[in-house]
Amino acid sequence: MRLPWRAVPRPSAPLRGLSSAPAGKQGFVPACSTTDVLSREQLRDFVSRARRLFAISGAGLSTESGIPDYRSEGVGLYARTDRRPMQHAEFVHSAKSRQRYWARNFVGWPQFSSHQPNAAHGALRRWEREGRLHWLVTQNVDALHSKAGQERLTELHGCAHRVMCLGCGAITAREDLQRRFSSLNPEWRAQAGAVAPDGDVFLEDEQVLTFRVPSCERCGGILKPEVTFFGDTVNRATVQFVHDRLAESDAVLVVGSSLQVYSGYRFLLAASDRKLPVAILNIGPTRADHLAQLKVSGRCGEVLSAIHLH
Ligand SMILES: [Zn+2]
Repeated sequence: MRLPWRAVPRPSAPLRGLSSAPAGKQGFVPACSTTDVLSREQLRDFVSRARRLFAISGAGLSTESGIPDYRSEGVGLYARTDRRPMQHAEFVHSAKSRQRYWARNFVGWPQFSSHQPNAAHGALRRWEREGRLHWLVTQNVDALHSKAGQERLTELHGCAHRVMCLGCGAITAREDLQRRFSSLNPEWRAQAGAVAPDGDVFLEDEQVLTFRVPSCERCGGILKPEVTFFGDTVNRATVQFVHDRLAESDAVLVVGSSLQVYSGYRFLLAASDRKLPVAILNIGPTRADHLAQLKVSGRCGEVLSAIHLH
């Protein structure tokens, strides 16, 4: 099946039927050879030359924390399961879809919310402290940069740890909603009991039908994760804010993203317009490879934590 948002065709067919892929933390990191010494040196030089580095991170950064990405060959969610991301219009217009979404989300939450930042998050946080990293934009919604203590951060696609009311716009903590789910569904149990390491959950239709979903305590509106679903657009003010930070920067580093989604890719186009040097650290090809001076293939945590600057 061809996905409309996948701009670059994959070199080989996705490996279907691998739902029993290795479940350990490294099980979600795509295969790659050890990054060669030369390209690591070049990346070190690139970062050390930057005075106001603009970084953009993606799912590839979190795979080393045990959260799978969508697209990686063999191990990504698209390859391992038939699961596809929630579409914005479907969530907004279908109570049934919301019920299914929240039932799975309720079961998977304790696992998903327990993931911890890895060495790559730590390195970016360290560069921020050292005054080298000007701004970090992440496409991830897993809150791992915040957990690592990152402050100069924009979560481009929102954060799964927050919930938004579509009626009044109130923002609440996802953790609070978990308590409401539990008290509304005291007898409800996920019979399957099979929560994958990524928090993915398989539920029978009958189970989903009896799951009760609360609405906004203030206005009775529909509750949605404060996350940009596919088919939705990123807030215009947020995009402008990020463009402004990019304009203040002197180099761009992409870490762990294939940049297939335009909302992130557009900043690489802007960087190119501004003639900013671009380096990419990612396993596998990205949409912006042709815009980069330096492309390094390797595990983000391993490579970034080995870069020591003075
Ligand atoms: Zn409300």
